[in-house]
Amino acid sequence: MLDRPHLYIDGQWLAPQAGGRFEVFDPSDEGLLARVAAAGPADVDLAVRAARRAFDQGPWPRLPGTERATVLRRIAEGIRARQDELAVLEVRDNGKPLPEAQWDIADAAGCFDYYADLAERLDGEEFPVTLADARFRASVVREPVGVAAAVIPWNYPLLMAAWKVAPALAAGCCMVLKPSELTPLSALELARIADEAGLPAGVLNVIPGLGGEAGAALVEHPGVDKVAFTGSVPTGSRIMQAAARDVKNISLELGGKSPLLVFADSGLDAAVEWIMFGIFWNQGQVCSATSRVLVERSLYPALLERLVEQARKIRIGNGLEDGVLLGPLVSAGQHARVGAAIARGLADGARLLCGGERPASQPKGWFMQPTVFADVPLGSALWREEIFGPVVCVNPFDDEAQALHLANDSDYGLAAAVMSADTARCERVARGLRAGIVWINCSQPTFSELPWGGVKRSGIGRELGEWGLDNYLETKQITRYESGEAWGWYLK
Ligand code: NAD
Repeated sequence: MLDRPHLYIDGQWLAPQAGGRFEVFDPSDEGLLARVAAAGPADVDLAVRAARRAFDQGPWPRLPGTERATVLRRIAEGIRARQDELAVLEVRDNGKPLPEAQWDIADAAGCFDYYADLAERLDGEEFPVTLADARFRASVVREPVGVAAAVIPWNYPLLMAAWKVAPALAAGCCMVLKPSELTPLSALELARIADEAGLPAGVLNVIPGLGGEAGAALVEHPGVDKVAFTGSVPTGSRIMQAAARDVKNISLELGGKSPLLVFADSGLDAAVEWIMFGIFWNQGQVCSATSRVLVERSLYPALLERLVEQARKIRIGNGLEDGVLLGPLVSAGQHARVGAAIARGLADGARLLCGGERPASQPKGWFMQPTVFADVPLGSALWREEIFGPVVCVNPFDDEAQALHLANDSDYGLAAAVMSADTARCERVARGLRAGIVWINCSQPTFSELPWGGVKRSGIGRELGEWGLDNYLETKQITRYESGEAWGWYLK
C-alpha cells in the first residue's frame, strides 16, 4: 500500500491542515492501493495564495520565455527518465493496459517539449496594428492570464495534467492542479519532477482532494483568475456557475457522444480496426470515443458480424499482464454506471450483439466485456448519452444526408469521424459535421500541435496547439499617441 500523506504547496510537501485522507483502489483487484492526503478548504487557500505570490511577486511570469522553456524541457526529461515507473503507476491507479500507459507518459513528456518551443516564441512577440488614424501607433501583446486552477479527470491522469500544466507554465501563469480523487498518484510525481527541474516555489501546486471539497473551494477562490476544467458536463456546468461570480476566465473540456460514419466503400478491416480503436482503447473511457457508429446499409450486416467476431477476441485482464487489450473500468461507481446504461439500453429495445456483462474470467476487479449494440433506438439514452465504457452503438444509414443528420443530432459536439474511399466525400462530410475534432479514415489519433475541444455541450475553448497556449494568455493593446500636437478637445 502506498502512503502519500502530503500536498505539494509553495515548493514544500505539507500535511493537510485538517489531516484529511482518502483511499485509492486498484481497479484490477479492488484492493487498497494508496492512502492520499486530501486537501481541505484551508489547504486550497494556502495553495492559491502561494500561486498568487509566485505570480504577483515571483520571477516566473517575468522570465524570458527561453528560460521557462529550459525548465519545461527538464520536466519533459524528468518524465522520460521515469517513463516505465510512471506507466506502471498509471496502470495500477487507472487500470489501463500498460502499452497504453506507456503511450500516455511519452505523450505527456512530448507535450512539455512542445510548449517549451512555444514559450520561446513568446519572447519579443508584439503584433503591430496599422490604424486608419495615422496619429496613433498601436500594437498588441499577450501576457499570462494570472493564477490558473486546473481540475482534471481520471481517464488520462498524467496526460490531462500535462495538457494544462505545460501550456499554463509556458505562458507564465502560476497554478494549482487538482487531480481526480480516483487517480491522484501520477500528478504527485509530476510535482516531484517539476520541483527537481527547478520550477520556482509556488508556480505549480498540486493538491489531491475530493471534487466537492477541494475542487469546489479551488474554483470558487477569489485569488484564481482562470479555471481550466476537464470532466463531465454536470460538473463543468457547476464550475461555470462558480466561475461566473468573479467573472473568471474559463475553459471547459467536457463529454461527448461522438459519431463515426462508415460508408460502404470503406475497407471492412480498416473500418473494424478504427471502430474498435475508437471505443475499446482505454476501456472506452475516452471523452472523444466514437461511441455511435453509423454504417451505410449495404455494409451493415457484414460489418456487424466482423466487429462482433473481433470484439469477442479482445484479451481482458490486469493491465500489467502481457497481451491484455482491455483492462478494468476505473472504479466501482463507473462499473455500476456502465452496467446501468447497458440495462437501460436493453430495456429500451437495443439489440445486444456481444458483451454486456462482467467477463466470467474476472470475478474480481471492475471489468466489463467489450459490448456491441445494434439497431439502437434513436431516442434512447444508450444512443444519446455518454456511457464512458467499452460500449458501442451501431445503426445503419441510407445516404450521406441522412448520415450527417443522424451524426449531428446530438447535444454533444466533441469529435466525429468519417471513413470512405471517396476523399471528396470525406472532405465534404468533415465540413458538415458539428464537432471540434474530425478524423478522416481513422479515429482518435491526437497530436500536441492540433486544437482539442468541442462545440455544444462538449465544452468551451481549445486545449493543445497554439490555441492551448492562448487559453492561458490575455491579449493587451498598447496604443500610442504620436502626433505631438495637442488633442484639442478641452484645451482649444
Ligand atoms: P467529473 O466531472 O466527475 O470530475 C472531474 C474532476 O472534477 C475531478 O477532479 C473531480 O474531483 C472534480 N470535481 C467534481 N465535482 C467538483 C466540483 N463541484 N467543483 C470542482 N471540481 C469538482 O468527471 P470524471 O468522471 O472525472 O471524468 C469523466 C468525464 O470527463 C467524462 O464526461 C469525459 O467525457 C470527460 N473528459 C473530457 C475530456 C475532453 O478533453 N473533452 C477529456 C477527458 C475526460
